[in-house]
Amino acid sequence: MLEPAAAAHVAAHASPDERAALAAVADRGIAPDGTGYHEFHELLVRASGNPLLTTVLAAVEQAVRWAAVEQDITQFDRDEAARSHRAIAKAISDHDPRRAEHRMRRHLDAALEHVEASGLLGAPMIPPSRWRGDNSDLPWR
Ligand SMILES: [Zn+2]
Repeated sequence: MLEPAAAAHVAAHASPDERAALAAVADRGIAPDGTGYHEFHELLVRASGNPLLTTVLAAVEQAVRWAAVEQDITQFDRDEAARSHRAIAKAISDHDPRRAEHRMRRHLDAALEHVEASGLLGAPMIPPSRWRGDNSDLPWR
């Protein structure tokens, strides 16, 4: 997966401003309308400074937005995700690439477990109307 590697890179190389911005978004948590969820990932990817990664993850982000519309996301799930974001932001603030990578991987695993628990694992992540090719194994978050 790409995003744990991006988190590690950001922990090692981000500017003080980027670290502070990530911590601020993580601290705000995730609102019922989803505000704060995607912002965290977008900031992190932008801070990674990798144009290829930015492009790839922007595509993944769009797929997640489409899929999220069809998912039943509770406040508990949002709080869980917000806690993960704070743990990732803390590792980044602490300049700890290994912990940032580990925390991001756990965050993505937890999201996948949620999908399994929802019985949606076999469901296409991208609505069939958007399909071009066999890219149904994109990383979840
Ligand atoms: Zn997240």
